[in-house]
Amino acid sequence: MVKKMHVLIAASEVRPLAQTGGLADVAGSLPLALSRQGLAASIIMPAYQTVLQNHGSAFEETGVVFAIDQAGEEAAGSLLRGELAPGLPAYLIRCDQYFDRPGLYGFQGLEHADNTERFSFFCKAVIKALPHLDETPDILMANDWQTGLLAPLSRLAGLERPRNVFVIHNQGYLGLVPPEKRDFLGLPDSFHRLDGVEYFGQSSLLKAGIVYSQALVTVSPSYAKEVQTPEGGHGLDGAMRHHAAKFAGILNGVDYDVWNPATDRHIAATYSPADMRGKAECKNALLAEFGFDIRAAAAKPLMGMVGRLTAQKGFSLAAEAAEDIFRLGVNLVVLGSGEDFYEDMARDLAARYPENCKIFIGYNDALAHRVVAGSDLILIPSMYEPCGLVQMYALKYGSVPVVRAVGGLNDTVRDFAGANPSGLWDTGFKFSQFQAKALILAVRRAAELYSRPEAFAAMIAAGMNEDFSWDNSAREYIRIFEKMLS
Ligand code: ADP
Repeated sequence: MVKKMHVLIAASEVRPLAQTGGLADVAGSLPLALSRQGLAASIIMPAYQTVLQNHGSAFEETGVVFAIDQAGEEAAGSLLRGELAPGLPAYLIRCDQYFDRPGLYGFQGLEHADNTERFSFFCKAVIKALPHLDETPDILMANDWQTGLLAPLSRLAGLERPRNVFVIHNQGYLGLVPPEKRDFLGLPDSFHRLDGVEYFGQSSLLKAGIVYSQALVTVSPSYAKEVQTPEGGHGLDGAMRHHAAKFAGILNGVDYDVWNPATDRHIAATYSPADMRGKAECKNALLAEFGFDIRAAAAKPLMGMVGRLTAQKGFSLAAEAAEDIFRLGVNLVVLGSGEDFYEDMARDLAARYPENCKIFIGYNDALAHRVVAGSDLILIPSMYEPCGLVQMYALKYGSVPVVRAVGGLNDTVRDFAGANPSGLWDTGFKFSQFQAKALILAVRRAAELYSRPEAFAAMIAAGMNEDFSWDNSAREYIRIFEKMLS
């Protein structure tokens, strides 16, 4: 029998064990998609307090222990083993000194001060764990700055296998390390150069992954182009251009077992393209849940927003445009949490326009499903968007996306009458300039289409018909793995 290719995915969060954002969705669902395609897959992540508390009984100590040099001092850790799914091993690196505390990267709005030490330890331990796994991986897939050290550490250890692939989910998080903490990285001086991990006098763990991996992926074709420009590169556009030959953009997939209006247990009524009656029920239930005057609001388009309230997500643009949006007869419902500044901006908007704008500040997975299902339009005005999942959920739920034409948003939404004059197969509305007036124009076009029920229904049907499941993207990843091994 031919040995299956084995891919180990190292990530700082993996759904359902621990999650703060889209990375966990990807790290949790890609391994399942890879094993459906006949590969062996496994994941490795830190044993955070929340993982041990909520899933600890599913993991066992392997007996493998590590003593890791951390800038001259020794830190001890161990390897635990469990399963993400039947036949799909999940490994945890345990080190209570670093991971037995609340919060993955920070707590109550403050970053943990020792994130350099924590994730350097994690990467060094992963390298030491490799010979002790069920089988030695052929490919080690690292994700974002937290695992950026894996590639240089593999090179330093002279490992022929596994080959290193690095996936950038968000280039805005550079993983910066000040000079006084440099020793924790465990890299000799030859790595601390401009063509190595050096970044304007500091070190960047993201750059470490970019420079030393054999292949580089980001999560959409458009974002792959944007990160090579000064506007989108966060100071690493030069490095990205330098490494362009090993670089590809692959869209994230959606887990339709979790996001499917025909089976969703979180929503007021299920529905499908063949029977859309449940969609209207979802809208009424959402209006009631948020306290809208249903008689006034039911006939108007309801526009939802779900996401982190940070500068990246462009909430300020929505706030600036709000008055015009309400004048167009469109109501707004916002679910989000993030930076105080934007949370306050949302509260202020809801207070000023109590009839037109309702908000929920917090992280609530079930409510995210209800907002996506109950809205007619979903607004995503991001400054930049590596891939974005919410617009893909919206399409499946018959909620028309209104998005800024950047990154994955640009790749997954077809602008009404953009490429084809009939607009028959188009799936949403896009705008280009990061300006309120551009956003307002897109919302106006959406409201006009909404007032033509047949045309609007045709757009909804086209969107629900789109397929962003993992299988296509997993095949693209596999092609890259095969190339790295040949
Ligand atoms: P990012 O990874 O940049 O945050 P994505 O669109 O790729 O953006 O993924 C965001 C994920 O997090 C989606 O699954 C979305 O539903 C979820 N999400 C974001 N904010 C919230 C919230 N306040 N409550 C519930 N889910 C949220």
